[in-house]
Amino acid sequence: MEFYGAVEAGGTKIVAAIGKAGEEPRALERIPTTDPGETLDRIIGFFQARVSEGLPVRALGVGCFGPVDLDPASPQWGFITSTPKLRWQGTDVAGTLGRALGVPVGFDTDVNAAALAEYRLGAARGLDPAVYLTVGTGIGGGAVVNGRLLHGAAHPEMGHMLVSRRGDDAFPGSCPFHGSCWEGLASGPAVEARWGRRGQDLPLDHPAWDLEAWYLAQGIVSLQMVLSPRAVILGGGVSEVPGLIDRVRSAAASLCAGYLDRPRTPTEWADVIRAPGLKIPGLDGAFLLAEDAAGSRIA
Ligand code: ZN
Repeated sequence: MEFYGAVEAGGTKIVAAIGKAGEEPRALERIPTTDPGETLDRIIGFFQARVSEGLPVRALGVGCFGPVDLDPASPQWGFITSTPKLRWQGTDVAGTLGRALGVPVGFDTDVNAAALAEYRLGAARGLDPAVYLTVGTGIGGGAVVNGRLLHGAAHPEMGHMLVSRRGDDAFPGSCPFHGSCWEGLASGPAVEARWGRRGQDLPLDHPAWDLEAWYLAQGIVSLQMVLSPRAVILGGGVSEVPGLIDRVRSAAASLCAGYLDRPRTPTEWADVIRAPGLKIPGLDGAFLLAEDAAGSRIA
């Protein structure tokens, strides 16, 4: 049996695992995201310990919080770049892990990794383009277009799309860069700052959820206009609020106002906006990045 290493690196915790995409991992460890040196050492330590127990990995895949450099021609490929987590700015994540473990590394954003996994194995299987969104401490998004992860001048930052504030919402927005961008109006911290209570403490009939669905729908309608995805997977903690996805679907149909040929009806919108099909799509995505990187050169 051949195994791969996967690292799903988030801003507060990191999941490292050995196994294969779509299967229960053979070994898994959760590591808090502290300073870069300590955190990367613990990830390396996890894999080295498993190797000594007879679980070597053929390649490593990393889905990382960002922004990150994904340009293969850049000397900073695999680095975290201008993150608001200042201690992590300029950290060579892919190179440090690859050199320590002596394996090739596939590297992408955490949300692109999740998009890849949902497209190949989950709720967006066979649906191209596919978008994966996570709504939690921020809003992040990744996309598969023509079977490949969408990269560009940098990589998509869907959470910082500029959106319109609803007329009855006086909250100025919580994004330190843009105030009322999508993330600034609809992330978990934005919900908490607007209503003075954390989302999990707001009852389901609180007006917060109608407004939240409206903002999420607004961003999704904009993504529909830009990429025409056949699936938009709505993941992350905020998305797990009971009934929210149905409210997002009907708000999207109503905001789009019948303009698009597809999706047009509420049923067609409900078919596009889907719940995740995988338990930890970012981790499955990291395994897929590893499988795709196996055979390439060691950084
Ligand atoms: Zn922003």
